[in-house]
Amino acid sequence: MMGLCPFHDEKTPSFTVSPAKGIYKCFGCGKSGTSVGFIMEHENLSYPEALKYLANKYNITVEEREVSPEDRAVLQLTDALHIVNNFAAEHFTKNLLETDEGKAVGLSYFKERGFRQHTLDQWQLGFAMSSGKAFTNLALEKQYNLEHLQKLGLSTQYESDFFKSRVIFPIHNLSGKIVAFAGRMLSKDKNQPKYLNSPESEIYNKRKILYGFYFAKTAIRKADECIVVEGYTDVLTLFQGGVENVVASSGTSFTVDQIRLIKRFTDNIKIIYDGDPAGIKAALRGLDLVLAENMDVRLVLLPKDEDPDSFFKKSGQDAFSKYLDENAKDFIDFKTTLLLSEAGNDPIKRSHVLRDIVSSIALIPDAIKRAMYVKQTSSKMEIEEAILIAEVEKDLQKLKKEQQQQYHREKLREDRNNFVTEVIVNPEDGQVEMIPTTTLPKINDEHQERDLVRILITSCDLMLEKNGDVTVHEYLIPFVEENIDFLANKAYKKIFEFAISKYKASQKIAFKDFIHHEDADIRDTAVDLSISKYAFANWEEKGIFLQTQQMPEENFKKDCYESILRFRLRVLKKEINELEKMILENSDEDKTIDIKVLQQLLNERNEIAKELTQIVL
Ligand SMILES: [Zn+2]
Repeated sequence: MMGLCPFHDEKTPSFTVSPAKGIYKCFGCGKSGTSVGFIMEHENLSYPEALKYLANKYNITVEEREVSPEDRAVLQLTDALHIVNNFAAEHFTKNLLETDEGKAVGLSYFKERGFRQHTLDQWQLGFAMSSGKAFTNLALEKQYNLEHLQKLGLSTQYESDFFKSRVIFPIHNLSGKIVAFAGRMLSKDKNQPKYLNSPESEIYNKRKILYGFYFAKTAIRKADECIVVEGYTDVLTLFQGGVENVVASSGTSFTVDQIRLIKRFTDNIKIIYDGDPAGIKAALRGLDLVLAENMDVRLVLLPKDEDPDSFFKKSGQDAFSKYLDENAKDFIDFKTTLLLSEAGNDPIKRSHVLRDIVSSIALIPDAIKRAMYVKQTSSKMEIEEAILIAEVEKDLQKLKKEQQQQYHREKLREDRNNFVTEVIVNPEDGQVEMIPTTTLPKINDEHQERDLVRILITSCDLMLEKNGDVTVHEYLIPFVEENIDFLANKAYKKIFEFAISKYKASQKIAFKDFIHHEDADIRDTAVDLSISKYAFANWEEKGIFLQTQQMPEENFKKDCYESILRFRLRVLKKEINELEKMILENSDEDKTIDIKVLQQLLNERNEIAKELTQIVL
């Protein structure tokens, strides 16, 4: 099955899934793996987390033990970090709800903001005490690792608490695990930042996380829209008020990763801005990305001096939603309006605005959408449509040219070393003989090896009729074993060595042994090869048309046989070259036997070449 890749931006599908094999592979960005590997990559989970995720999805009960100090030590680092964060979150919550300071400072702040107990619980809000070491000391007392505490930014290098006298907003990843914290200062201390965030760590990449996404994702899918605001409390207020499809980019401007995260759930983004035009202009800079991702993005500017929190409280859910609907502008419109208001009547500034808008329009992949935006911008900026179209076209050509250059560079790289010209000295009369390249299959060693390994992996336990009762691997292995050092690619060699050892121990070899192998080299290569584009398309690109081209699975016997012939051909070529060299260099000795052997090798090579040529043509 083919589809658009969830890991990179593409317009034509190159993401392949083989349900039968339980693997996926993208020919665009190269990502590949098993089904569990997919969940790990896509949901950003560790292996055990991915298993739990799948178990949950298919209602399979996973039995878990309680984590003892011994277990804690051996857990994967990421799991360990999550556990530390959980402990911290519980500690912060206890501070908020059970201590006098927490209640007086933190809880009263949240209550003032109108957050109900249910919201506090659900979002695991907390409070960090003003005293400097209580949390770190407790954590160390409970056997939590200092290095982990520091890695997560919970404790400083001086073993004191990182968050002091702040209300705490835990930041969750897509599966609801706490990956970081944001602490808001409540006093008016000018020397302290208003917000303090955990540093990036093995479990926290701020470019990939949106605050609130875990809680919002179901609503986003249902509403087919994601509302983006700036602050943590904006998210909480809207969510509590019934607008649940809301997230915050939390301080950073939008990243491609965040946009792709949203795109997995909806194509529609509504971004709410408050504040001054200069700040908004800066925020818009990253948004061209959304256009390139072909998402429908609308922007709303709130009335002066309002933020989503205050405005929502003032107007209530219905009026708020109504305001959003009535005032949402598409990206190009919003950007044009904003930039024009800044440029005023200055013709030079206006021409800069036009350039800026044109380059944004050119990024939109959809031609119809582009045309609509050209029309809209033309009337808004009072510029003839034809001029705009010409400008956009120029940008498009430039983009296209860049893409083509990229393509050619890649193709050149691939074609290099693909042509073999054979020069042979005839041992009998010393004449130089050329074997035209057309009579030899033009396949470079890498392709040849890849093919051999691919057949081993995908068809290893299938029966080869042609040779009686042998399986593919029984046919391939003894031959390759003799010539194992010929395999130049390290991973391919490892794969054959693994297969040979199994074969020698009379064990069966199956496809799953390769894709689940403990050696990542073997595993990745196996997945890679088993849905390899080369199996389908490469022969054609190289101008070599195999009858086996369409369905390698159904033609494995022929593939297998040919593959061995090609390998044999390579071995022969090398032996011939070495022998020729020897004959030419040792002019004194009797060379009769050597020449006889060489003739035999040449004969065999010609036979194979002929046989392969027949297949090839
Ligand atoms: Zn991809």
